[in-house]
Amino acid sequence: MSETEKTVLLGLTLQELTGLAEGLGQPAYRGRQLYEALYRQRIESAEQISTLPQEFRSHLMDNGFSVGWPKIEKKFASADGTVRYLIGFADGQSVETVWMPEGDGGEAGDGTEAGDEEEKQAGKNWDRATICVSSQVGCAVDCQFCLTALLGVKRNLTAGEIVGQICAVLNLQRVLPPQQRVNVVFMGMGEPFLNYDSFIKAVRLLVEGVGIPESRMTVSTAGIAPRIYDLGAEPMRPKLAISLNASNDELRSRLMPINRKWNLEKLMAAARDFPLRNRERLTFEYVLLDEVNDSVENARELVELVRGVRAKVNLIALNPGPGIAFQTPAEERVAQFQKILTAAGVPAFVRRPRGRDIYAACGQLKGTVEVTAS
Ligand code: SAH
Repeated sequence: MSETEKTVLLGLTLQELTGLAEGLGQPAYRGRQLYEALYRQRIESAEQISTLPQEFRSHLMDNGFSVGWPKIEKKFASADGTVRYLIGFADGQSVETVWMPEGDGGEAGDGTEAGDEEEKQAGKNWDRATICVSSQVGCAVDCQFCLTALLGVKRNLTAGEIVGQICAVLNLQRVLPPQQRVNVVFMGMGEPFLNYDSFIKAVRLLVEGVGIPESRMTVSTAGIAPRIYDLGAEPMRPKLAISLNASNDELRSRLMPINRKWNLEKLMAAARDFPLRNRERLTFEYVLLDEVNDSVENARELVELVRGVRAKVNLIALNPGPGIAFQTPAEERVAQFQKILTAAGVPAFVRRPRGRDIYAACGQLKGTVEVTAS
């Protein structure tokens, strides 16, 4: 039986697993046992599910049920501790998933989470790690400064493939949520809001199954405005980041063609309407491109644009890559841009590039293997 003909368990909800168990003549509680084994214990094959009778385990394996673990095909380790994983699926497609020890994806850069000393774990060389996960193979959005765009979109990932990336990395790094603290950012390859159903299903499995609180997750969108409203209506949802990257429509349409479909007026209307929780802030990401969108004028426009939204701005100096026709601004220009925002009362933080040396940083995920694999 080929991999693709197998029934994959990873990605199924508690309800679906219960139905499956019952369909196989098992009591309903076997569904819960499967669920716990998949997401909490993260077993790698049905054989390891020790809570199930041996007979049922064998039945699952003999009848083409597989857990459906993605394969870690390659691993690139950065000098800064970041690890970029190339993760492959049954049909031969692959995506990238990034592990950042001490990394917060730039989301906690405002110090609001400081003081969590008691959460520090002894014997671990990080106290807050972040996993950056992909939602599609490639990307359809075509942002002019992003390497993933050069791939085009190959296909959507299933919820199981999204959760699978995270489970695989948790196991490799021996992380046990919820006791050990880990953040998830949906900021890898792809546009999560163009694969909304799988993305949100993955979120539910991560919260309820794996045990990662929704408050430790952030989803970033290039600006699919209708889905911003949908996310706001979800009972369970990550925090929201919007990739703004330009301070006016003319510039944004040039850098991000998707702006022609949902322009700044529509995007900012959705952002203003987004129902923030207590103490929650929206994040705007802004990739700084030298002499393109990083002038004093741009900073002032940006201040006006985000006025009235409880938000912070994460500035990202361009991570360069082959085929990208923009330059990284000098540090002083970045600092000047940040200063204008903060002086106007807009909290702004500069996102530290992670794993640039291994093509793991923002906008660099492209399945690049031309660096030495470890
Ligand atoms: N498609 C979603 C999720 C990806 S998040 C989105 O666009 O939001 C990736 C983040 O990296 C986005 O904020 C994007 O604007 C930024 N980015 C893309 N290319 C980059 C580059 N070359 N250097 C720095 N940041 C980049």
